[in-house]
Amino acid sequence: MSDGVPVGARATLARVGAESIISIAAGLSIGERRFAIAHEIAHLLMHAMQSSLGLCTGEDMATTDDERFRLEVEASDCATHVLMPVAIARQFCGETNPWHGIRAMADELLVSTPAAARRFIELSDRPAALVYQVEGRVKWVHPSAAFPGFIPRKRSVRRESPAFGFWNQGACSNDGAVVPARVWIPSAEEGATLVEHAIASPEFGSAMSIVSLPSPLPAEL
Ligand SMILES: [Zn+2]
Repeated sequence: MSDGVPVGARATLARVGAESIISIAAGLSIGERRFAIAHEIAHLLMHAMQSSLGLCTGEDMATTDDERFRLEVEASDCATHVLMPVAIARQFCGETNPWHGIRAMADELLVSTPAAARRFIELSDRPAALVYQVEGRVKWVHPSAAFPGFIPRKRSVRRESPAFGFWNQGACSNDGAVVPARVWIPSAEEGATLVEHAIASPEFGSAMSIVSLPSPLPAEL
């Protein structure tokens, strides 16, 4: 069931002759349903020569098959471009607190908050990473192409992170905070810092942080 990861389709596509049936997992939000349907339509448009039955399942993003993984990324990229076109999505990327823009994008474009957050990271001028946390640990990371550090999965959320409040006390501040870069990036230079904005989703048992490089940009982390 849904864990907020927007890249997996959590839907299946079956094709028999000229007919296609898209089945969506139960319990998804409207934003997650829209993304799953757009993902499956993208398969239909782009991957017509692939096997006709059971082309896509919710488990496919975890596949170790490189070719299968490439098809899944292609379908999700297409869904992202259709649901959050650059010219429209960019309008939400100028807020000082990124979550204000991300929430507005999710509301206006009817997409899930994690999907809007990933789009924000891709379109942001500043190198940044989205860190999705479950049970007090990093579940997945979506860095922008220019983000210089490696944030490992399963890393525990450190006390200095504003997200720590959610894991420790059930609520966290949405204000931006300057944190040591080593809070997230084990190999970061001593004294290097990151700007972090956290948001908690108690209904999903998750928290997300957007970490970005401080201004002015440092020479290295
Ligand atoms: Zn798929």
